[in-house]
Amino acid sequence: MLNQEVKFQWEKLVAQINQDRIAYYIHDNPVSSDQEYDERMHELLELERQFPDLVTQNSPSQRVGAQLEVGFEAVPHPSRLYSLDDVFEMDKLDDFDSAVDHASNSVFVNPGTLSSDSHTSFNLEANKHEDSNSEKIDAGKYLCELKIDGLSVNLVYQDSFLIKGLTRGDGEVGEDVTNNIYTIESIPKRLPGSINIEVRGEVFLAKKDFETLNRQQEELAKPLFANPRNAAAGSLRQKDPKVSASRNLSFYAHGVAGEVDYTKQSQVYELFHEWGIPISPYNRVVNTIEDAKKYIEEYGDKRSEIEYEIDGVVIKVNDLGLQRELGFTSRIPRWAIAYKYPPSQVHTKLLDIQTQVGRTGRVTPFAILDPQVLSGSIVSRATLHNAFEIERKDIRIGDTVILQKAGDVIPQIVGPVLKLRNGTEQIFQMPTKCPSCGALLVYEKLGDADLRCPNSEDCPAQLVERVINLASRKALDIEALGDKSALALCENIISSIENFFDLDEKQLSQNAFFVNLSGELSKNARELLSQIRQAKTKSLDRKLIALSIRHVGPNYAKLLVKHFPDLDTLAAANPDRLAEINGIGPEVALSIFDWFQDSRHQAIIQSWKKAGVTFDSDSYRSNFDSDVKLPLFGLTIVPTGTLENFTRESIKVTIESNGGKVTNSVSKNTDYLLIGKNAGSKLTKAQQLGVKVITELEFVQLLESPA
Ligand SMILES: [Zn+2]
Repeated sequence: MLNQEVKFQWEKLVAQINQDRIAYYIHDNPVSSDQEYDERMHELLELERQFPDLVTQNSPSQRVGAQLEVGFEAVPHPSRLYSLDDVFEMDKLDDFDSAVDHASNSVFVNPGTLSSDSHTSFNLEANKHEDSNSEKIDAGKYLCELKIDGLSVNLVYQDSFLIKGLTRGDGEVGEDVTNNIYTIESIPKRLPGSINIEVRGEVFLAKKDFETLNRQQEELAKPLFANPRNAAAGSLRQKDPKVSASRNLSFYAHGVAGEVDYTKQSQVYELFHEWGIPISPYNRVVNTIEDAKKYIEEYGDKRSEIEYEIDGVVIKVNDLGLQRELGFTSRIPRWAIAYKYPPSQVHTKLLDIQTQVGRTGRVTPFAILDPQVLSGSIVSRATLHNAFEIERKDIRIGDTVILQKAGDVIPQIVGPVLKLRNGTEQIFQMPTKCPSCGALLVYEKLGDADLRCPNSEDCPAQLVERVINLASRKALDIEALGDKSALALCENIISSIENFFDLDEKQLSQNAFFVNLSGELSKNARELLSQIRQAKTKSLDRKLIALSIRHVGPNYAKLLVKHFPDLDTLAAANPDRLAEINGIGPEVALSIFDWFQDSRHQAIIQSWKKAGVTFDSDSYRSNFDSDVKLPLFGLTIVPTGTLENFTRESIKVTIESNGGKVTNSVSKNTDYLLIGKNAGSKLTKAQQLGVKVITELEFVQLLESPA
């Protein structure tokens, strides 16, 4: 038989060893010395030798090095997590307030209730609050907290060590996601002193991290996460902690169970804060239910400014003695209530699907919607990404669709409301011709998701997008040149970016957009001319982005200026020379080379030079390669077999555009053999040479991991 002490000794060692491994293999930031680690490992093996029943397949003794996968075993919560009663009307809060008052005035004291719940509970040995029952509590009666749209978890600290991280599950039993919880750096792995406590809280993704994640998903042609909660759940429920670690998960505590001896919940939060457990800065103690309503209104207005998604406000009785007195129903605590904001999803009619053309000719569909107010702004358009996404969601013209805001500002169509279909809905077909210039659209390569307009020089839509790109913050940062100015410029003033730097007052006044009522050049137009002059001497990497060279965004632009002293040297470089640069593969090298060979592009450069645009690099060879952060930087990868999500071409581009090199044969210098179905002789060769073999899933995880 295992006694509790031995079991705990083992759990503590496992926790420490796994934390060490995550710090070492995933964060690349060891927290223990090799010696400490070896000693723990030795101690663990010794303990498991004495008590073989301790050994599970998840024990570090059964796994080597970076094997840290999460198994999602069902584990009972030491004390139960309750859910909260949701209300949607402010009036219901008055009922709640009356019930609280009734209890606080009542003479009945519920003795020795041992409570626990998703938001708060305590086992208080000494009853320190005898007096609090007899007087009405008005000072700091309620604690208001924003309700985060994330995933509830229970962190179990034993003797101050974080030994388990569990999802909420059904409140009684959760899933073991401990190793993924260990990757969340803001969660302390050890508390001061020696305490047994359960910290409840929310794991979530900030809006910006949610958007980044969905952009990555989009680039990898993976389904997008519908909302930050799904994304947080998906990120925490990863088998490989490395993936969880890459997702930038955050945590705020909102409850506790165990040995905490305080009179107010807000004091417990202060204690947590001292311990380094993250607490939301938006929590507020108020005196009356009216003040709580004001808090709800205040954050209802400011909802879009909060850095993470919220769906309501939780109001809790702040006094812990009174919490105990109020107790629980079978399902919920009587001392807390959740007010839910109106959903940030709305139904609307999909009136039409149209397409737009990007600066490199990519044609993307977007939805024209019956305008609807959503999270405080009117939405009448939403991107649909590509034809495959429309097909996957089965969205048809005429459908009533569910519209929501993903993250901060981007409206997104979740899907159709199928039961409202009446048979008149139309399945969308991508156009065969460019909606702007009428050129026949093409797939550039087999297996591409996007159709493109090949008329790169004369397509008006592409020109507008190139002007917008040129003015964007990452390029020349010309604030006075927004979307509307760009449209006006391209309408009748310029027909290529070639003459952009020659723009003058006379040219601008040809379009009414730049002229004010008294017939003079508008203030914005004069500002535009001044900003164009200033842009002439901005850094070379910005100019490279402004030229709209295919594939050249901020990463490649910075890489190029470190290897070439000026634009002429870069323009003269052959593809082999370009591909020699670590981080630039043959595909991208060829695309850069081709761009400079085109006489129309040479004309742009000549014309810009004549207008006084400088093309020297100040950062040439300074700080060599230091700030280039591509996930596959410096890796040589050999793909083989049939991949599920990539064609032969697209895998090449994906590897190269993430900084890796693709070769066709396996050698000692190969970092990874990426295998799909029916991988043949290359696999055998890789095994002989000891080259690491990865699956498509592992490859995608590699892409998602921080460089
Ligand atoms: Zn076109």
